[in-house]
Parts: sequence; C-alpha cells; structure tokens
Amino acid sequence: MDRPDGDSAAPEAAHEPTLTIGEFARRTRLSAKALRLYDGLGLLRPARVAPGSRYRMYAPAQVERARLVAWLRRLGMPLARIREVAPLDPPDVARAVREFWAEVETRTAARRDLAAFLVDQLTRTEGETMSTSTLELRYAAVTDRGLVRPANQDAAHAGARVLAVADGYGPGGAPASAAAVGALRHLDARALAPGDVLNALADAVAEATRAVREVAGSTDAPEATGTTLTVLLWTGSRLALVHIGDSRAHVLRDGELFLITEDHTAVAELVEQGRITPAEAESHPQRALLLRALPGAPDAPAVPDLRTHDTRPGDRYLVCSDGLTALLAPERIRELLAAAADPQQAVHALVAAAHAAGAPDNIGCAVADVVVGAAHPG
Ligand code: MN
Repeated sequence: MDRPDGDSAAPEAAHEPTLTIGEFARRTRLSAKALRLYDGLGLLRPARVAPGSRYRMYAPAQVERARLVAWLRRLGMPLARIREVAPLDPPDVARAVREFWAEVETRTAARRDLAAFLVDQLTRTEGETMSTSTLELRYAAVTDRGLVRPANQDAAHAGARVLAVADGYGPGGAPASAAAVGALRHLDARALAPGDVLNALADAVAEATRAVREVAGSTDAPEATGTTLTVLLWTGSRLALVHIGDSRAHVLRDGELFLITEDHTAVAELVEQGRITPAEAESHPQRALLLRALPGAPDAPAVPDLRTHDTRPGDRYLVCSDGLTALLAPERIRELLAAAADPQQAVHALVAAAHAAGAPDNIGCAVADVVVGAAHPG
C-alpha cells in the first residue's frame, strides 16, 4: 500500500484540488487514461478542471475513493455498478461486494458445468458411442401424497429417455411442479444427436422456467410459488443431468448407492462452509430452505446445474423428492433399491417404506435401469 503521505492534511486543505492527474494517478495506482475515462463516466470527477488548460486537478481527500474504485475494478465489478457502489458507506460497500461476488460464483459455476459438458462431448470417440448404443432404459415413476399433507405437489415422470421429479411449493405448487416436468416430457419422443443435447436441454429448461413463472403469476403469491426440478436425460450412451433445488438423483452401481446431485439449500451451504456437520444438517429446522429453484427472479432466471454422467449396464438410477430422502436414511434407500426386481417394484417399495415411516411429505420418485437392449443383443 502507498504511504499516507498527503492524506493527513487538515480537512479544509484536503479539499483543495492540489494534485495533478499524474500525482493522483501515482497515489491511486490508476492510470491517467483510466482517470479520464472515470471522469467521463461520472465515476470519479476531478475536484477542479483548470479553466484555460483543461488540466484535471484532484483533492487529496479523493484518494481514498479512487483506491476503492481501483480495487473494485480489480475485482471485475462493472463500471456502472462501481458508480453506484463507491459513494456508499463502508458497510454498504461491503454488502455490495458480497452480493457481486455471489453472482460471480453462480455464473462461474454455470460456465464450469458448460465447459465440462463441452469437453465431454468433444472428446467422446465414435467407437464409444457405437459400443454403447444398444443400451436402453427400463423405468417406472410414481407420486404419492403421503399421509399428512392435504395435497400432492410433487410431480414425477419416467419414459424411454427422461426421468424427472419436481417438488412444488407455495399456493401454486402442484401446477408448478407439473408444468416443470411437463416441459421436459417431450424429450422422450426425440432421439438427440450428441450435438443437440445441450441446446435441447437449454430450450427445455427455458420452457420449464417460463411455464412455472406463468403458474406462479396466476396465484396470489407469485414470489412464494416455485418448484425444484431434477432430470436425467438419456442420450443413448450417457445421461445428462439437469438439477435445481433439493430433489436428488442417485445411482446404485455394484451394490453401492452414490448421490450425483448437490442440494441447493442454505443448510447444504453451511455444511460446505464447515459451519455445521452433515449430521446437524439432517435435523436442521431450516433444512428445506432453498437457495435455488424455478423460476427464480424475473430479471435473473434460476440456473440449474448441468452435468453429464457415465452410465454402465446394470446401473439403477433413482430421482426423488425430499419426501424420501429427508425421511429414509441412504442405507435404507440402498437396501430397497438393491432388493427390487425391477423399477416398478423399486418405486413401490420406496413409497411403502415412506408410508411405514409416517410419510409427512409428498413423495415423488422415478427409477430407471440401464439394460442391454432386447432388439440388439450383445
Ligand atoms: Mn417435499
């Protein structure tokens, strides 16, 4: 940091425009070119512009503001936003920086998913696609009101290519979850070329978001209505995963159960930050508080996670709402999935187990097995 050589001047003197643009640039580590730009944008006006020469003169008291501007620039904050933020009191600047950084991290996460998806798609060989093209899904889905809730706001779907579960909430919860799943359902009927998967998913998510927003808008409490959405899309050799909220996707492989989604909840974030343990999270009073769900804010639609997942013959996938996972321990879910002869049996065993445990919430679940297709043995 610079030494506060001129900064300790008396208050009156501090407002005297005594610094040339060159001196001011040196003290603030902003270039003269940047200072001229910030002047033009109204971000940092010189204290005085000499009438004849048009030389910009700055007051020592402006150094602190200019340094803040420089640091915010280094953070990548857009100039228009800095113009709003820089004049605020330090606690408000701190809040604005936190908010800005949360947005950056969300955007980065979405781009990381996209990058991984593209790398995956571009590095897959023709041979791989051929050798696995005979695989297909056997599937079943069910939703159940449970034993306590007055209505069922969960939606579930299983088809030849799509497994989807949505857990709606708020006054329009039931139509919201139905609309989200409904927007994905048509992908069942389309064989997608690998190059089409991303765009088809993006379109389907946009359509789901639009449909959920419309449902929410038709209720008395648009802000309070929304839905989770967890989708597995079969591409003929792999699964694409789209996920937002706290419904979950799992795979049972070689007798072991693996969770392949992360909950978008405040509690999951506390665990991630090491502030509470996973065990504490399970009984946390706010464990259902979602950080992300559809449709998101009107000016910032929610961004689901997007992944691809390698499949193997013999894999059994489970997508389900928290009506199962908040109630049954992972080991219990593993046992039930492993013991079921087929997806139909699996979904019914899971719902029966939830009922036996009191079924306080709605249950939505979809199960699919990856099998070698009957039409193309081998
Ligand atoms: Mn639920």
